[in-house]
Amino acid sequence: NTSLHELDPEIAAAVDAELHRQQSTLEMIASENFAPLAVMEAQGSVLTNKYAEGYPGRRYYGGCEHVDVAEQIAIDRIKELFGAEYANVQPHSGASANQAALFALARPGDTILGLDLAHGGHLTHGMRLNFSGKQFDVVAYHVDEAGLVDMAEVERLAKEHRPKVIIAGWSAYPRQLDFAEFRRIADEVEAYLWVDMAHFAGLVAAGLHPNPVEYADVVTSTTHKTLGGPRGGIILAKKEFAKKLNSSVFPGFQGGPLEHVIAAKAVSFKVAASEEFKERQRRTVEGARILAERLTAADAREAGVDVLSGGTDVHLILVDLRESELDGQQAEDRLHEVGITVNRNAVPNDPRPPMVTSGLRIGTPALATRGFTAEDFAEVADVIAEALKPSCDVEGLKARVKALADKHPLYPGLNS
Ligand code: PLP
Repeated sequence: NTSLHELDPEIAAAVDAELHRQQSTLEMIASENFAPLAVMEAQGSVLTNKYAEGYPGRRYYGGCEHVDVAEQIAIDRIKELFGAEYANVQPHSGASANQAALFALARPGDTILGLDLAHGGHLTHGMRLNFSGKQFDVVAYHVDEAGLVDMAEVERLAKEHRPKVIIAGWSAYPRQLDFAEFRRIADEVEAYLWVDMAHFAGLVAAGLHPNPVEYADVVTSTTHKTLGGPRGGIILAKKEFAKKLNSSVFPGFQGGPLEHVIAAKAVSFKVAASEEFKERQRRTVEGARILAERLTAADAREAGVDVLSGGTDVHLILVDLRESELDGQQAEDRLHEVGITVNRNAVPNDPRPPMVTSGLRIGTPALATRGFTAEDFAEVADVIAEALKPSCDVEGLKARVKALADKHPLYPGLNS
């Protein structure tokens, strides 16, 4: 019964310091969010003790009657949220969900077609050091000069290489994909269509983004980005893929599911069906639009700052620093100094090396969860625009960031 602080003060101190960091800075990493306390309560519960290999009602261990209830609720809620015929809530992460999905649809050596990592794709969509790039024959499509996915190239490559699977989805792309067009191309070459909605799942749940479940054979997602739940993955699909996907997750790649995380996923799916969640997603998208507007304004342009594709339809923007005196690393460091956390990001055909880059990815989900309004996002955008000038008043900007953080306390019930 010893508390964390008593048993392990070193780890307790790291946790406290992280809470303080989250409370006192502005989190604008596009793939991050703040899980509700109730989600963290489920995740920190006694369910962590339970082995439950198998699926609800068909387990390889005794004593699963309560975790069965929680897992079935998670499955039912996520199916309802996205209108899916099938759901698997066991993948430990987004990458695990993608691995299980890909091996259910294709065999090693088969050809897959996905968005190039350097153009906004994800590691699991065919990057050469990832399982997807090592075990599959990868063909990559790209964005065009305007920064939009080149659907003519997708069609040309699909016809030329006849992939087994076409992957639509991204980690760094500020626009909506044309799922109907992906479906048409997949049908034409008899490929499976897999959509990875990890980034924009929350927008889909809120009705602010087309729903890929209506078009794809298989849809994967993380649960911790715009969806706002615990770290984890899910797979949705048409009924006909149920057996293959279930056996690909367990026993294919995983052993015992994390039932505490699955219970936390269920809680977050309940939240995601609420009006409050929809309103939060609307502020998320609105915030990103405000950032794009401010960072394409005349004085930002004068400082060599621009926004890829000229704007955004989603929860993030990609800042183009090719004309700026600051490179991606310097811009990330400058924003860190004033109290804003973002990540540097390569722009297509980036002249700088991948560890430096000429861009930033900036997202609004975490601040929207914190309660930021359009007015607050305008102030954040002004602070960022000022910080990205070659020289700026760092102390003044720090004070403005602190005022915003104080205005919207995070986890007010928790003290670091
Ligand atoms: N898919 C996409 C599109 C992502 O952006 C990410 C994470 O960045 C993942 C999958 C992987 O998720 P995880 O980090 O949980 O493995």
